[in-house]
Amino acid sequence: DMEVAIKVVVVGNGAVGKSSMIQRYCKGIFTKDYKKTIGVDFLERQIIVNSEEVRLMLWDTAGQEEFDAITKAYYRGAQACVLVFSTTDRESYQAIDNWREKVEAEVGNIPTVLVQNKIDLLEETVIKNEEAEALAKRLKLRFYRASVKEDLNVNEGVFNTTSSNVTN
Ligand code: GDP
Ligand code: MG
Repeated sequence: DMEVAIKVVVVGNGAVGKSSMIQRYCKGIFTKDYKKTIGVDFLERQIIVNSEEVRLMLWDTAGQEEFDAITKAYYRGAQACVLVFSTTDRESYQAIDNWREKVEAEVGNIPTVLVQNKIDLLEETVIKNEEAEALAKRLKLRFYRASVKEDLNVNEGVFNTTSSNVTN
């Protein structure tokens, strides 16, 4: 049996919950003070799609995104992308166009989903629903509201779509 491995890059501003999302999906846990293990480029999870084994490799950053210092190696060979912004961080929402362009410049137009994380903090929101939906529509992206903390829409939403996007 040939095993399929798919590289997925998770991008967005610092502190939107990218590392937490990867950890949630691959390890099934949420820790408030998660710090990426130094030296690990990605976490992986094995899934079954159309009775085929697929290895999703979710690439994390070590915080370089905050210094705009993500190297080409991070994007190289990526077959899918998860673009993340936070419910409580307007700058992270405004930065999505920029992240999309960066990914596209490195790897072209790969299957991508847009995620508004930290939906559990909805009472602190700084982004109107219409704005988030308009962004998704303009970029022609499937859009999910998620909470990594409450485990909402991570498995069944974001990564379910990501895996079927790349295997169908
Ligand atoms: P990254 O810089 O994008 O990798 O973000 P992190 O995964 O390090 O998360 C930044 C902070 O946001 C951490 O304190 C997380 O515990 C917290 N966080 C992540 N996801 C959620 C969420 O869905 N809800 C809430 N309330 N906090 C979250
Ligand atoms: Mg991180």
